This record gives sequence, structure tokens and C-alpha cells, in this order.
Amino acid sequence: MQNLTVLGTGVLGSQIIFQAAYSGKQVVAYDLNDEILAKLPERWEYLKPFYLRDLPDATPEKLDAAVQRIRPSSDLADALSAADIVIEAVPERLDIKQSTWEQVGTLAPEQTIFCTNSSTLLPSDIAPFTGRPEKFLALHFANEVWLHNTGEVMSHPGTDPAVFEQVADFAAEIGMVPIRIHKEQPGYVLNSLLVPFLNAGAKLLVRGVASPEDIDNTWKIATGSPNGPFEIFDVVGMMTPYNLGMSGDDPEMREFAEYIKREYIDKGWLGKGSGRGFYDY
Ligand code: NAD
Repeated sequence: MQNLTVLGTGVLGSQIIFQAAYSGKQVVAYDLNDEILAKLPERWEYLKPFYLRDLPDATPEKLDAAVQRIRPSSDLADALSAADIVIEAVPERLDIKQSTWEQVGTLAPEQTIFCTNSSTLLPSDIAPFTGRPEKFLALHFANEVWLHNTGEVMSHPGTDPAVFEQVADFAAEIGMVPIRIHKEQPGYVLNSLLVPFLNAGAKLLVRGVASPEDIDNTWKIATGSPNGPFEIFDVVGMMTPYNLGMSGDDPEMREFAEYIKREYIDKGWLGKGSGRGFYDY
């Protein structure tokens, strides 16, 4: 599959577009309007230094060639006209996903394979809106796709197994390590492991058991892991645990959310991206 169309050019969509183009695919970048698409060149300039820093084989020439393989379009029919595969990275709201897939299902060529990058919705929540559930599944990327290169491939009960394998192969072709998830699992593999781990760290803190530094050090020294839970919270950013804690029904996670709002968010310390979170960067 050589022709990819990515729907949504935000945090993850832009990374998927650039990574696939870097891997030699022809990529159409679709978003709602041309003003949004006009910002993409800035985004490529932002991403290039990370590739040069993190990937030994990256060169400025290869990165420029990647940009040449990207075609922006705000016309959905045009964006889909030659697509072998579509990866959807629009906002994490079922109503937006639903209306997007309803349109895509009517406009895309019959053979086009459909993937969602949704982090929290299950493929079976979306499949009925696509018009071709047998060709629909999830391909889930982790933030910083060039570095944290898992491609979690998750089918729903109606996905054609041959399509599942085609998507796993495609993930490998764009530099991901395909993780085959044969049964629908909220959180895929990664977040099924990571979320309970982060929550356990948060609860040790709100119970007054130990400081973030000591919790992180315990984990790192004893297991050899490079990061403890609070270093990971800083990479994720404070807003995600805050929103999850406030909207969930676990009283200790709500207490953690209120704590990080008071001690960090209200001071503008939003995590590593803002220069300060649990740690100073
Ligand atoms: P984002 O808000 O950064 O980007 C969303 C993009 O979609 C924006 O460019 C927006 O203009 C565009 N958009 C809005 N409505 C649209 C529509 N109807 N059609 C096409 N484009 C539309 O969001 P994000 O963080 O990139 O997340 C996108 C998806 O990726 C979500 O499903 C999320 O769960 C998933 N995801 C995010 C991360 C992450 O770390 N941010 C990691 C893995 C998966």
C-alpha cells in the first residue's frame, strides 16, 4: 500500500503523516480548512530536528524528500481519491469520528482500508459508521511516533483477518513495530499496562507514602527502567491526568487531580513541554 490519507493534522496526525512520508509513502494530509493546512510546513520544520537527533540514518536530504511526498488537501473527496489506506486522527469525540467516517465511507474507493488512531474508543464503537466494517480496524500510534514506534493493530469482531495482516504489514513499512491485538481491549496493550502503573504512583503520593522523586527512584533502581511514574506524567502533561481524574469515579484519583491543579497547573507548570512539572527541565 503506497498511498496513505491521514484525516486530521494535529499532534498525532502530523506525526503519522511525516513518519509515513519519511518511510517513502505518498501521503495526503486532510484537515478541515486551508488555514490549518497552511501551518503544516512549520510543523515539518519542528519535527525534522527530532529525526536528526533520534534516528541515526536521518539526513536533511531525506527529511526534505519526505516533505515532497506530502500533499495537503481540505477537499475530502480529493483527499481520498487515490487512497489505499486511511488513518483517521480527528479529535477524540464519537460524534466527530462518526460523521467523519460516514462521509469517508461514501467517498473512498471500494478497496480502501480504514484505520482509526483513537486512544479510548473501541473499533466496534465506530465500525458501523464506516459502511465497510470488514475493512475497518484500529492502528494506534504512541506520541513521538518516530521514537516510540509501536503500531498497535486492533481488530473488532467483524474485521477481515486478511485486512488485519495488511495493516500490520503497512505499520512495519512505515517504521512501526506492529503489535497484534486480536481481541478488543480498551487501552490496547500500552495503556492497559501504563494507566494502572501511573495511577498506583499517584495514589502513593496522595496517601503521603513517599515523594515523587523517591517513588520514581524506587522503580528505576529496582527494575532498571529508565523512567518512574512522575517522569512519565511530566511527558504526558498535567492536563490529561487532571481531566481523567476529575471525570472518573475514583476518589483518590480525583484527589490527585485536585492536587496537581493546585500545586502545578495553576502555576503554569504543565509538565516537560512547559519546562516544569514534577521536575524542573
Ligand atoms: P488534535 O486535537 O491535536 O488534532 C485533531 C485534528 O483534527 C486537528 O488538526 C483538527 O483541525 C482536525 N479535525 C477536527 N475535526 C475534524 C474533522 N471533522 N475532519 C478532519 N479533521 C478534523 O488531536 P490529537 O492529539 O492528534 O488526537 C487525534 C486522535 O489521535 C485522537 O483519536 C486521539 O485519541 C489519538 N491519539 C492521540 C495521542 C496523543 O498523544 N495526542 C496518542 C495516540 C492517539
